Amino acid sequence: MAQHHILANDGLAGSAREALEKAGHTVYTRKIEPENLADFINDKNIDVLIVRSATKVRKDLLDKVKPLKMIIRAGVGLDNIDVDYAKQKGILVRNTPAASSHSVAELVMAHLLCGVRFLHDANREMPLRGDTAFKELKKKYSKGREVKGKTLGIIGFGRIGREVAKMAIGLEMKVLAHDPYIKEADLTLHFFDGQTATFHIQTVSKEEVLRNADFITLHVPAQDKPVIGEEEINMMKDGAAIINAARGGVVDEVALYKALEKGKLSFAALDVFADEPTPPVQLLMYPKLSLSPHIGASTVEAQERIGEEIVGIVQNMDN
Ligand code: NAD
Repeated sequence: MAQHHILANDGLAGSAREALEKAGHTVYTRKIEPENLADFINDKNIDVLIVRSATKVRKDLLDKVKPLKMIIRAGVGLDNIDVDYAKQKGILVRNTPAASSHSVAELVMAHLLCGVRFLHDANREMPLRGDTAFKELKKKYSKGREVKGKTLGIIGFGRIGREVAKMAIGLEMKVLAHDPYIKEADLTLHFFDGQTATFHIQTVSKEEVLRNADFITLHVPAQDKPVIGEEEINMMKDGAAIINAARGGVVDEVALYKALEKGKLSFAALDVFADEPTPPVQLLMYPKLSLSPHIGASTVEAQERIGEEIVGIVQNMDN
């Protein structure tokens, strides 16, 4: 079996590194700055480059690197890689699409449960005023809502959208999903005692989701224009909420901010931003937003599953 020289420039689960080294490959996991990346790849004869979303693999880099045979994106989105150009140069591009779906879905549910009970705001206020204004804050956060019986709208019913649907069903929510390419799906929930339950979901129009959902979450790839802007928000129920853990810009951030200001939406949650890594401070400071810094896939379990998939990809590379 061929021995490969591998650079994991944005990190790699320890278990995956060990498995690759045990199989005889040479693995570098140090972070090489963009200006030194081409030289490093050429000097160390790197034929497999593993990246997450931080390292950009653009045309100029691809033109300089000679030994590179494969780029592996440890995760889903390929927007940081010039995929077509790499393929033209005979460099294979792979990703690990399924490994992180569950982690992203759990983050979405965390943001949803945070939002309906104002935890995102309470967590900002309690350290500042919890000891002097306890009763005032208790009153402020006492009109939370349950999610049970409410409708979760899911736009984009691929791997993550369906995981989110399963969790929502587990919380006894109703699910309305829209996806132009998926008409129906069977979702099987696996319980701790071995029981399973399968739910058949037929997708509906985007408008039906917008008009009837109490909360909307997006699970679409990066888009040229927002999937939700002012017009779509105006169709939504008063007091609804939006969660974006897909890609920055699939929700128009300005329209979202205005809808929160007007009280049209009760809260929103953002894990991704149009301007990463420098989102506008107006969003970061805004009390009706539950925020996280693009950590949807970043759990120990997801990174281990991603690592296992990467080991499989490298082992099968020469077949
Ligand atoms: P997927 O390809 O399985 O599903 C995406 C679905 O969106 C597809 O079924 C597609 O038909 C649908 N779609 C495309 N355009 C649409 C539109 N305009 N309206 C409605 N549906 C549309 O992808 P996935 O694994 O579910 O991932 C979804 C997205 O989540 C990824 O593209 C990625 O950007 C994002 N993501 C974010 C994180 C994070 O850290 N927050 C982690 C992983 C993935």
